[in-house]
This record gives sequence, structure tokens and C-alpha cells, in this order.
Amino acid sequence: IYIFVLQVDKVIEAFTLSDEKLMHLSTKLFEQLFKGLGQATNEEAELKMLPSYVTSTPDGTEHGDFLALDLGGTNFRIILVKITPNPNSNIQMDNQVYSISHKLMTGTGTKLFDHLVNCLWDFLVERDMMCQLLPIGFTFSFPTRHLGIKKTILVNWSKGFTASGVVGEDIGQLLNDAINRKFKNFELKIMSTVVNDTVGTMVSCAYDHHETCMGLIVGTGTNMCYMESQSNTEMLGDNFRSLEGEMCINTEWGAFGDNSGSLDEVKTSYDIAIDHNSPNQGEHIYEKMISGMYMGELVRRIIVDLSAKGELFQKVDEHSILYDGGFSTAFVSQILQPNIDATMTMEYLRSFGVTANIDDVAKVKKICEAVSVRAAALCAVGVVAVARKIEKNRGHVRMVVGVDGSVYRKHPTFKNVLIDTTRRLAPELNIGFEVSTDGSGRGAALVAAV
Ligand code: BGC
Ligand code: MG
Repeated sequence: IYIFVLQVDKVIEAFTLSDEKLMHLSTKLFEQLFKGLGQATNEEAELKMLPSYVTSTPDGTEHGDFLALDLGGTNFRIILVKITPNPNSNIQMDNQVYSISHKLMTGTGTKLFDHLVNCLWDFLVERDMMCQLLPIGFTFSFPTRHLGIKKTILVNWSKGFTASGVVGEDIGQLLNDAINRKFKNFELKIMSTVVNDTVGTMVSCAYDHHETCMGLIVGTGTNMCYMESQSNTEMLGDNFRSLEGEMCINTEWGAFGDNSGSLDEVKTSYDIAIDHNSPNQGEHIYEKMISGMYMGELVRRIIVDLSAKGELFQKVDEHSILYDGGFSTAFVSQILQPNIDATMTMEYLRSFGVTANIDDVAKVKKICEAVSVRAAALCAVGVVAVARKIEKNRGHVRMVVGVDGSVYRKHPTFKNVLIDTTRRLAPELNIGFEVSTDGSGRGAALVAAV
């Protein structure tokens, strides 16, 4: 018997991962955590396991006024943070968002940092705070390595940033240099503490929920940090670690799958194409299968492919946005809204220059679902691996994950699939998820306050 299998079903099958496969990947990621922590194996490990030197979470005694700068994937945010200590512990924030153009992301580092400082200037002028000298907590959402107490160098860019002259340089120094260029007559000597966004999110969440021991971001990019026993952080070398207590480790899990091919068995041709067309080819493979920068692009590539094969759409305009890569994850979120009906989706697709019938709408929805479910399931793979590691260190305890990022907060199904899959893969673990909106900036201020 000849069975005609639709291409669309084949694609969906390729994106559907069994629990068995997910568990297998989780074990691989778990092994990579150990590799990254080991002194002899750190070099070859996929996960860099960057030490943050944050050794405790807040206890409510933190206090003071701080400026938090937050350079994320698409935006730059400045926040004035006022922390009141116990017994009335409380945090007030006044924040402003500035956009970062593609040109700034891909130009020179000097221009990028000058722009950040110009925003800072405006922020201070508007608040009549020009002469006040506040310590800065700088949330820098890229992999950085701490060399000594005040030196934090960028390991590599991700999420489409390529600004020149920044990799290998001291981020705090670049910021200070730019501040000195702009604030010539002020003789400012600002103390800045550079913090990864996952670390800021974890610390901020721990302020409200004491069992917090993980910080997760699923936004433009994805990453996780967690509290590790210092007796296990062998990669620090004996002179730099105490054998007691814990330290927050930035796993940089976006790089899972980079060297050992851990993800080869689940990668599709679309994943491979996305990687080939990215400025950081061969890097952050796991991130490219999960985060917001790529989810819309994955869906776009699938539907372009299927429409070329004649399996989707009545008509696609020559100038359709479908062809120019300008198809964002917000589109996926829109299609998966629970209250959107087929007619609305058709209208929506028409605004992209695509004529779709009921059948096409159902297919597009299925594709968006498959891509989103895979992203959330793969993210659960990592959460389970890290939680197992913590349970191995601490014994059976409640673990709270502080989470932030646009995909977690705005995508209609991601969060639930992530939580359900985590429970299904590790029913024996006691894991809670707490959204920590604006957590990374607040957390950076808390870190600066310690
Ligand atoms: C970066 C991480 C960051 C994550 C989330 C990744 O691309 O490498 O440092 O935490 O994005 O923003
Ligand atoms: Mg952010």
C-alpha cells in the first residue's frame, strides 16, 4: 500500500522528542556540568561554568542607592535602585529603556559603550542627579570571565552582537573609559560590578524566595546559573577557592552541543541552516534551538520550505516578509494565542503577504506548536540536569528557579510546557519556578550592595 506522508507531518515528527530522548540529553548535559567544573576537563567542556564570585544570596540587610545598567539582547535599560534594609526591607526602582540598533550591535565597541554612556547622561540629567556618584551594577548578558576582583573580560559575543574591540577586554574598564570620555569635567570614579543576567535574576529572586538556587533566562538568548558547592569548583584552582560554602556558577548552557555534538541526533536541517547563517557559527547550538532570537526564524524557514514544496499557502507575494527573515518570535506567540481564530490568523498572515486557507492555518499552527514545544522541552532538559546536580550536593531540598526573559513571560505556551516537562522528567525533585520580572537589574544592584 502506498502511504502518502505529508512533508508537514515529517517536519513535526522531527521536532517531536520523546521523554526517553529528553532524559538521554539531560544526562549528557549533566555530564557536561562535571566536565566544566573539573580543572583538567574545563578547557574541552561545552559548558564554560564561569564563576561569578557571588557566594551568598541576599539576607535583607543590603541597603543603598545604586544605578543598574542592563545590556541584554535587544535593549539597554537603566534603573535607579533604592534598597532599604531590614526590618522594612524594600526595593524601589525607577527605570528607563533605550533601544540598541543593529548598527550599534555590529559596529565598534567604542561606539557601543559611548552610546550606553550617552543614555546614562540623559538618565541622570532628567533626574537632576548629575553630581551624585552612585555605584553601578552592570548586568551584562554575555559570557564574561572574572580575572581578579575588579576585572571582568568578555569571553565571546552571542545573540547577534559582534561589536569590535570588546572580546577579551575588561567590560568595567570599557564602561569607565566611556564615562570618562563623556563626563570630562566631573572626575567621576564610578565603581562598577559586572554581573551576568542569570546571576542578577537568581539574586533578585532569592531576595523574595529564600530557596532560590537557580537563575534562568529564556529571552533573546538562554542561560542558567546555580549555586554550586565550592568544594566542587576545581576549575578555580586551589588558590582561588575556599572548600566551604557555595558559589554561583554561570553555566553558559547555550553552548551545549558545540563541541561534542551532543545535540546532533536531534538537530534538523533548519537548525543547521540557522547556525550557518549566524555570526557565531558553531557556537551556542542549544541556545539556537530554544531562545527567542531563533524561534521565529525556525518557523519561517520551515514554512518557506513547505510552501516551496507546494504544501502550504495558496499564494505568497514576491515581497512577502516571509523571504526577508523579518519574522519574529512574537509572530509565533501571536499564532498560538488561545483566543485567536482561523479568520484572524488568515488576516494576520495576509499582513505578511501570504494568502492562506483554513488548511494552511492549521498547518502553520501545528508548526509553531512543534517548534515551541521542542524549545520548552529542551529547556526542561537543562533545568532537570542542573537540579539533579544541586540535589546531589545539598540532598533532597526544595529548589526555586528564578526566571526572566521575554519568551518565558510572553509566549503563550512555553512556560507551561517547560514546567510540565520538568515535572515529568524528574517527578522526584521538588522544583518551583518564580518569575522575576526586571530581576536582572535589581539583582545586579543587590550584588553591588553586598
Ligand atoms: C549569553 C548569556 C546570557 C544569555 C541570556 C546568552 O547568549 O551567552 O551570557 O545569560 O544569553 O541573556
Ligand atoms: Mg534581559
